[in-house]
Amino acid sequence: MLKGIATSSGIAIGKVYKLEQPVVNISEGKGVPEEGLKIFENALNKTIKDIEQIKERAKKNLSENELAVFDAHLMMAQDPEYKDQIVNMIKDGSRADQATKSVSDMMIGMFEAMDNAYFKERAADIKDVSFRLLCNILGLTIPDLTAIDEEVVIVAEEMTPSDTAQLNKKYSLGFVTEIGGKTSHAAIMAVALGLPAVVGCTGVMAACKNGDTIILDAKEGDVIINPSEEVLKEYEDKRQRFLEEKAALQVLMDKPSITLDGHQVELVANIGSPKDMDNVIANGAEGVGLYRTEFLYMESTEDFPSEDAQFEAYKVVLERAEGKRVVVRTLDIGGDKKLPYFEFDPEMNPFLGYRAIRLCLDRKDIFKTQVRALLRASTYGKLAIMFPMIATIDEFRAAKDFVMQTKEELKAEGVEVSDSIEIGMMVEIPASAVLADEFAKYADFFSIGTNDLIQYSMAADRMSEKVAYLYQPLNPSILRLIKMTIDGAHSQGRWCGMCGEMGGDPMAAPVLLGLGLDEFSMSASKVLPTRKIITSLNKKDMEELAAKAVKCHTESEVTALVKEVLKA
Ligand code: PEP
Ligand code: MG
Repeated sequence: MLKGIATSSGIAIGKVYKLEQPVVNISEGKGVPEEGLKIFENALNKTIKDIEQIKERAKKNLSENELAVFDAHLMMAQDPEYKDQIVNMIKDGSRADQATKSVSDMMIGMFEAMDNAYFKERAADIKDVSFRLLCNILGLTIPDLTAIDEEVVIVAEEMTPSDTAQLNKKYSLGFVTEIGGKTSHAAIMAVALGLPAVVGCTGVMAACKNGDTIILDAKEGDVIINPSEEVLKEYEDKRQRFLEEKAALQVLMDKPSITLDGHQVELVANIGSPKDMDNVIANGAEGVGLYRTEFLYMESTEDFPSEDAQFEAYKVVLERAEGKRVVVRTLDIGGDKKLPYFEFDPEMNPFLGYRAIRLCLDRKDIFKTQVRALLRASTYGKLAIMFPMIATIDEFRAAKDFVMQTKEELKAEGVEVSDSIEIGMMVEIPASAVLADEFAKYADFFSIGTNDLIQYSMAADRMSEKVAYLYQPLNPSILRLIKMTIDGAHSQGRWCGMCGEMGGDPMAAPVLLGLGLDEFSMSASKVLPTRKIITSLNKKDMEELAAKAVKCHTESEVTALVKEVLKA
């Protein structure tokens, strides 16, 4: 069995189709500029046509938002700076393929060097476009995935966005790649297409040949080639069970998230961009509990996103939520999240440093643009604004006052702003959890950011694998901080949500329900499985469980209690 990275869910069983890309060999020696320019121009035009054609074919399978990747590719292929750099090298005596390779590699290297998963993936876009361009320069044929006319599992070194988009869902049962991580485009597309996929499966290309039988378990990241009869039967049964469970969850799509004894909670989704609204809707989420707006800032390469660009993004999300609440978190930059156009002074502990609301309160010019965009968008739906990394009541009041002042300014300009915007805060610093009952006098709501709350409570860097064992959401110390936060909110008639990973953790759901959490925010794909758990539990029983859990001594004791409950 080979191990890769699980991306989605589901099991694919079928015949191997190896996607073998042509090998690009860059020529040697000097070129003749006139010839090179002609070859390059023709190849570039063909590349643009190819991408347009792929986009056209992909329309059958992908939504408008997912097709946006091809617009990014077209922009890249038509980018005057990219073209000029190559043309200049050809004029200086490089051959068309040498110049294209050299300029593309330089750009890929620049993006890959950025300390940020998003930009690393943008490097994949440039690779995709430049590979097509090089093949066109050298007259090499790229395999045509649209020609597949029988059911197969695709095995590839790497799946580029254009490969994934060409997949015909009727015949492509799933795919496995040697390269790629959880945030790779291939993985994202697999989730969007609902295809089982395993990425980063080293050695898979060498381990199989066309026509072999292959099993891939996208939930576990397992890949099995030419399985025995027994193993095949085991996975066929597993696949059947998975499909039945998935179908059974669909009945919960439009159902309320209500316990057996009639207590209702909200199950909402975390998003990073307007295009994630497709998933929010497709998974029956009851709104958005966390819109991480920093991605908008990270996608922008030259400068901070303009007020109008931000307004458009917020407006789309609010409109698509159709009156359901959308909690937008103001800029949470710093720590591991850097911007290419903004210089952070070096700090010993960036996670404890100048970031999020600390930066926004210091750089009101940056904050102002976002707040104005948010307020302008507020009339398009039910907006809630949330500040990240609040440590003191002074910070919260300063941020809220700033929003209020900006609202008055906009009104004076004649701009309409909603009067029912809720203004709340993330509770992700232990100090604010401890003082939650006082914070609740000022904030309309809380959303507990357990990713950071646990990191700061345990003093354990969330990026460090060595101390990952201290990520203990069910540790009684964390549960007590959560209890203080929820009780603090309720003491002032406020609601309390959770948007850290713990909010979608099936093991945590019973305890959180018992502690009185009102809103659970998670990745959209977890909404229906969580609704299944919530609707099978009794709130009263969970209150007893939670009371016992906060008195336990260790996380494993709490885990054992929860397992009992989930078994019953
Ligand atoms: C958190 O800290 O739990 C959270 C939701 O914010 P982020 O993961 O973006 O820091
Ligand atoms: Mg956080």
